[in-house]
Amino acid sequence: MVEPIRLVVLGATGSIGRQALSLVEAFPKRLRIVGLAAATSLRPLAEAIIKFRPYVVSVLGEEEVKNLATILKDLGLARAKWPEILEGSVGAINVATQSGATMVLSAMVGRAGLAPTYAALKAGLRVALANKESLVLAGELIKPYIEQIVPVDSEHSAIYQALGGRLTGEGVRRLVLTASGGPFLGYSLKQLQNVTKEMALNHPKWSMGPKISCDSATFMNKGLEVIEAYHLFGVTYDQIEVLVHPQSVVHSLVEFVDGSSLAQMGPADMRISIAFSLCYNNRWPLLGDIKKISPLGLKALDLTESPLTFAKPDREVFRALDLAYEVGRGGGTGPAILSGANEEAVAGFLAGRLTFLGIVQVVEDCLNQIPSQGVSSLLEVLAADRAARLLARELIEKKFN
Ligand code: MG
Repeated sequence: MVEPIRLVVLGATGSIGRQALSLVEAFPKRLRIVGLAAATSLRPLAEAIIKFRPYVVSVLGEEEVKNLATILKDLGLARAKWPEILEGSVGAINVATQSGATMVLSAMVGRAGLAPTYAALKAGLRVALANKESLVLAGELIKPYIEQIVPVDSEHSAIYQALGGRLTGEGVRRLVLTASGGPFLGYSLKQLQNVTKEMALNHPKWSMGPKISCDSATFMNKGLEVIEAYHLFGVTYDQIEVLVHPQSVVHSLVEFVDGSSLAQMGPADMRISIAFSLCYNNRWPLLGDIKKISPLGLKALDLTESPLTFAKPDREVFRALDLAYEVGRGGGTGPAILSGANEEAVAGFLAGRLTFLGIVQVVEDCLNQIPSQGVSSLLEVLAADRAARLLARELIEKKFN
């Protein structure tokens, strides 16, 4: 009998976190939850605590600690069964490193995911990485630990799978990241002038949180993924291409020097790449065998459903992509500035204080005004991120008023 993987989920109540917990429910002999971290979604966290009984959890701050305790009491969980409840970034770091985990699923959104991810890597833990910002902000610092990472993002998981469950392979010529194109595929700049938040969040293929849905609509998501791929797979930026593939069936592919390409295909369901990141190249029966119906309600891929098409992205309309390439090539704190400015701009857009086209404009202005510097510590990365956020907020305020 194989010991279950002792899993920590950072970002347990987000889109990836919830899907991961559904896998733990489906495969209780393979996965055991030892720690959970969430920010402010306390009710779902409390329910997860009751269901999975982690030893330790962490929430955003003091107030959330109190409120979580109240909810646990209300739900009737005996005090003796409560996990240790920690708070803040230090709390999340402790959940990752002090809970006896053998695997950390890093699925917080944004910069908040960086510190606990970095700590888990430094502690020698294996990290299933869904948090894009960790590699985008601190790819250079994470490099020595890269072999401990298994990618969760569907594109990077596809490449990892095409490489046989590894980050590198013989004779890799090019990586092709596919992009669904988001809700505004085919739009002109003029048409983008009046798009709303509701339209931006209505992703045609994937069910994701608001930040990533919005990034997907601007193509910034793909830009961040290009930078992520550069760090993960040790290729040059010239070796990374992006193709629009609206059906989201081919999740990415690897082209080899002999002319062969290997692609990974599947339904657009993140549970497949989450499971692959956790399973040590030991595929789990998410779909069930040929006679059974999937225990998870997963639909098998049906290639007859629609033809598969591929096209080059419109780089004039979706400038975020080239911006990310440029910033990635420049290295240093550039990607942290890009990411910090983008997080603020997306928040501004979601709050109705910035137009859709304003998002990338704010990012570009921040990149033009804040010089990029070399990176030798996490503090420098976080300082660049903070500077970008402050400036982005200022620019949004100016545009809004
Ligand atoms: Mg992706």
